[in-house]
Parts: sequence; structure tokens; C-alpha cells
Amino acid sequence: MASIADTANIPMTIPFNRPYLVGRELDYIAQAHTNGQLSGDGAFTRRCHTWLEQRLGVCKALLTQSCTAALEMAAILLDLQPGDEVIMPSFTFVSTANAFVLRGAVPVFVDIRPDTLNIDETLIEQAITPHTRAICVVHYAGVACEMDTIMAIAARHGLKVIEDAAQGILSSYKGRALGSIGDLAALSFHETKNVISGEGGALLINDPALIERAEVIREKGTNRSKFFRGQVDKYTWVDIGSSYLPSELIAAFLAAQLEEAEGITARRLAIWDHYHRWAAPLERNGTLRRPIVPDHCMHNAHMYFLLLRDLEARTHFIEAMMATGIGTVFHYIPLHSSPAGQRYGRAAGPLPHTDATSDRLVRLPLWVGLEDQHDHVMQAAQHILGLA
Ligand SMILES: *Cc1c(COP(=O)(O)O)cnc(C)c1O
Repeated sequence: MASIADTANIPMTIPFNRPYLVGRELDYIAQAHTNGQLSGDGAFTRRCHTWLEQRLGVCKALLTQSCTAALEMAAILLDLQPGDEVIMPSFTFVSTANAFVLRGAVPVFVDIRPDTLNIDETLIEQAITPHTRAICVVHYAGVACEMDTIMAIAARHGLKVIEDAAQGILSSYKGRALGSIGDLAALSFHETKNVISGEGGALLINDPALIERAEVIREKGTNRSKFFRGQVDKYTWVDIGSSYLPSELIAAFLAAQLEEAEGITARRLAIWDHYHRWAAPLERNGTLRRPIVPDHCMHNAHMYFLLLRDLEARTHFIEAMMATGIGTVFHYIPLHSSPAGQRYGRAAGPLPHTDATSDRLVRLPLWVGLEDQHDHVMQAAQHILGLA
């Protein structure tokens, strides 16, 4: 089959992701050097903390080297013991589970809702055992989980709630920012997310009782943060911990990105809306299913995906798009069917929606700057789906 790129005789390459620079990142990195501090927790880190705390309405934000690191801090903060169980979806990135497995805890995988692809809150209660300690929810594609129901279940059973909000910056649930609802939350600033610093993340703390220990865990188990605030006259080893804080170079880059976070989100939303209008007739004729965003959830256009008929249709689509020079990708291999997921975790029951979604889902390019080539992406996809 001749691809569109062949017929046009132009080597067209549109990557799945292209990291966007807002403009001031490198100036701020130079400024960090001028400030005379390149290690962590300097002026740019404080600026990022303040932005996150004010804009998201969280008690305390702490930058980390990744969302993975923030989830690991959360697992330490919960004092999980070997054999403790954490309820979570199987349709998620490995770090959601791995952070808890590192503490000896057991991920218990629950199926997702077929509409939002988030954890099915109606299945959580039956997965609770005497060992359950926490629920870790994942806001897939920046669309909120049913947090009112989930927080009520956690309160009834004395469980902690962690939000894996890696994809959820500036999304909201009934007017509340994602990351501000659970006891703890984790953000990612990986280059594939909306707001980036290459690698990067943040731990968000909504239970004030956890703040002091979080600062210690992040600073290699020392009370260094207290020392710099003048609250103790020398600092020493007081708890377990690791080096979870990023350098000022990363924080400087991130500060520039956060200043433009609203603009980035608006531009992504415009691209998302354009995809959504384009895909409507294809949904009506049964070719695919589009993302579903409940009315009470404001999303951040982290991702545009299509659910195709089956694995075969999805494989054909990705290969045919690649032949025209356009990068599209599938998403998670469900954790309950992965080698480590089977060794360290267990499924709470059959997970039919997780399995079906994993086979059918394809993500389309969505990045700031795609606007010029966006029509081309949709035309190529339309052509392939029309022939399929
Ligand atoms: C990206 C992502 C992570 C990991 O983020 P890092 O910053 O790369 O560690 C974790 N969970 C989810 C749901 C993600 O999308």
C-alpha cells in the first residue's frame, strides 16, 4: 500500500511526542548558576513549591526527581509492612505498583471503568481484606477518578489514599485540583507529560501530619530542612530516606514551564478538541470509540486516544501510521499480566475491561507545536481507518 508520505514524496515525520520549550528555561538555568546554588532546595525550588501549593491548593509540595520517586516517598510515609496490601488499577504505569512492592507491600489489582478507563470505584470495597492499608488511584489521561466515592470508602475502612496524578496537572474533579484530594499525591514532569523538566516530579501532601517526615525522607533521612530553617542547631540521621530532591538546574527549567502551564494546557486542549470533533463520525459509524470525560471532570488534554475494534485493527493502524511517518503508540501492558505483577501482586478478580482496553487503545500525537501538522495527522488516520 502506498503511504501518504510516498505519494506526496516528502519524508514526513511527526513524532508521537516532542518536548515543548516555553522560552525562558535556559535563562533560568543560567540564573540558578548566578545565584550560586546548583544543589537542591534553592530559590527556584521554592518558587516551584509555592506555585504548586497556591495553584493546586495543596498543603505542601516537594519537588522530586520523578513521579516514581514521589510514589516511593509516599510508600515510605505510609509505613507499609511486608504483606500489607494496596488497591490499585492494573491499567497503569509500573511505578504505581513498584513503589509499594519496594516496601514489601502487595499490589491488589482492580478492574477499570469502561468509560473513563479509571479504577472502577464500585469494585474497590470487595477487594479490601484485613491487610489492606491504602488505595492508589491513577487519573488516566488527566481525567479524574470518582474521588468522592473513593474517599468515603477509605474513610469507612481507615485506609490512606494516594493519587497517582502523573498525568493530571491542572485537571480537576468537581472544582478541586487533582492531587489536592487524597492524603498524598504524585506529579510527573517527565518529557512526555504536559509540564516538563526532562525527568522530574513532585510529592503533594494534604495531611499536614506527614510533612515533617516527608522532608526527612527526601533529604537522605536527615533533619537538614529543619536545620536550614534554624529549628535545630545541627543536622543528623533521624529516619530512613534517600536522595529524592532534584537540583536547582531542574527546578529552574521547571519554574519556566510552570509559569506557562495555563497556556500549555489551553493549546493542548485546542488540539484535543479538534481530534474529538474529527473522530465523532468515526465513532458514529462504529469504527472506534472516543475518550469519555464526565461533566464534573475538567481535563488537561494530556492524551488523545482511540479505542479501535480489536488488537488486529490497532496493530494495523500503528504500522500504517508509521509508514506515513507518524508516530502513534499503544499504552500499558496490564500489570497483572506482567512477569513482576504476577510475582509481587494479585488481581482482585477478573479484569475484562483492563485486558480489552490494553489491546484496543492507541494514542495519537499531542504536543504544543503540532498545530501546523495536525490536519495531516487526521487525514492520514482517516485514510487508514477508512480502508480498514
Ligand atoms: C509517567 C507516569 C509515571 C512515572 O512518572 P516518572 O516521572 O517518569 O517517574 C507514573 N505513573 C503514571 C500514571 C504515569 O503516567
